[in-house]
Amino acid sequence: MSEYPQLNLLIGGEAIANGRDMIDVIDPATGEAFAALPKATSDDLDAALDHAKAGFASWRATGADKREAILRKAASLIRERAQNIGASITREQGKPVKEAVGETIYCAMLLEFYAGECKRNYGKTLVRPDGQRVEVRHEPVGPVAGFAAWNFPALNVMRKIGGPLAAGCSVIVKPSEETPAGGLAMVQAMLDAGVPVEACQAVFGKPSDISEHLLASPIIRKMTFTGSTAVGKHLAKLAAENLQRTTLELGGHGPVLVFNDADIDAALDTMAGNKFRNAGQVCVSPTRFLVEEDVFEKFRDGFVERAEKVKVGSGFDKDTDMGPMASARGPDGIQSKIADAKEHGAKLLTGGERIGNQGFFHQPTVLSEVPTNAEIMNEEPFGPVAIINPMPSYNAMVEEANRLPYGLAAYAWTQDSKRRMSLASEIEAGMLAINGGTVSAADAPFGGVKWSGYGLEDGAEGVSACMVSKTVHESA
Ligand code: NAD
Repeated sequence: MSEYPQLNLLIGGEAIANGRDMIDVIDPATGEAFAALPKATSDDLDAALDHAKAGFASWRATGADKREAILRKAASLIRERAQNIGASITREQGKPVKEAVGETIYCAMLLEFYAGECKRNYGKTLVRPDGQRVEVRHEPVGPVAGFAAWNFPALNVMRKIGGPLAAGCSVIVKPSEETPAGGLAMVQAMLDAGVPVEACQAVFGKPSDISEHLLASPIIRKMTFTGSTAVGKHLAKLAAENLQRTTLELGGHGPVLVFNDADIDAALDTMAGNKFRNAGQVCVSPTRFLVEEDVFEKFRDGFVERAEKVKVGSGFDKDTDMGPMASARGPDGIQSKIADAKEHGAKLLTGGERIGNQGFFHQPTVLSEVPTNAEIMNEEPFGPVAIINPMPSYNAMVEEANRLPYGLAAYAWTQDSKRRMSLASEIEAGMLAINGGTVSAADAPFGGVKWSGYGLEDGAEGVSACMVSKTVHESA
């Protein structure tokens, strides 16, 4: 096991590790504290804001070629460091090392795409017959405050810093206090590659204190958050006070529509793997499996068989498919949702229990025939629980898929091309995967609709979300 790094604030390039109140970091495999990180003081946050203002002035004035080269260098440092960063993520968050290293490499891929976007900021010019010119310029919005969740310690932070830096913004990011090292490694790689120390900073503390402090400042011109819908709504209200532009990547409740003409084995292999990835703690996790009646039994039995084969254990064990959940809130939350589902008449087909009395392990769980008034049919379980329900018709499946206020990722399995086209227009989601399990790619926008949030990350859209347009009307 490689060494877990020292944890620090990164303010104006200074790594502050001591002399502050400390927060424990808990190992999800044991439930024990194994590291501690410093809390930023109010003065630290004011200093970070002043630096962000200065960092914005210098970084936006840096040429696109140079910014691209620096971001590419940061991506290559992340690739070089991927094994160590991955091991830190496993230690603090629990996921298997192979997933953690994969997450880290994905950060490098995303940053490489963002780096290319530095040079694709074109604007446009309108030329009038009388010689008047109207120039539309895209400029960086200003200093950005980013708040990231713990489920992807590195990727959530890369999504908060990569787009803003490619656009020419400075950024202050607060990785999750529960999983600080993955995010700190992303910020450190930026600084090591040559991003000005004032343009990329990391702070920690009590989350609500940090966001209130940063968003109260007129220096911050954009807020971006990944986490729950409840906290997203709260932060959107804070940002409204200063009219800060906002990107919210919130929860979902992924529906999976399985039709009777689907390749059932492919659907099972792909979606069972997806369901238990990161112990189900994924905003785009497939959750409500809506299966046409005549293939329901086959799909249900195949899913249970696969769930029972998932090996749960330490993320450091190379045979492990699924690690512990990230915090005590994980198993507590799904235990109460499973109990509620059973009270509402759901069938528990496999799993349903915690594993052991150390750490936050939980069995892969499958429920079926869960009524829509059960809590788990309405609130994201954010854990290793699949719900498999039989459905009578296309219309009933689409209606159920769209019933909830969430709309992040959705999945559909069918061979029928007409049905695929109608699903593409009828499903209310930011991302729809058809006959596959992938809903994110570095060059494609990622984000939701309805209560899953607004604003986009990744792709060209993730950079333009950090830009404002200015129109210059120039007379002849
Ligand atoms: P949460 O929204 O309370 O916390 C998520 C992250 O936001 C944490 O890292 C936390 O430090 C930060 N945060 C919380 N309050 C904040 C504030 N006032 N200002 C700034 N940052 C703040 O969610 P949770 O309790 O960790 O999980 C609850 C549910 O949220 C989950 O079950 C899941 O449904 C959802 N969630 C979604 C995602 C996602 O990827 N969209 C990630 C984590 C949690």
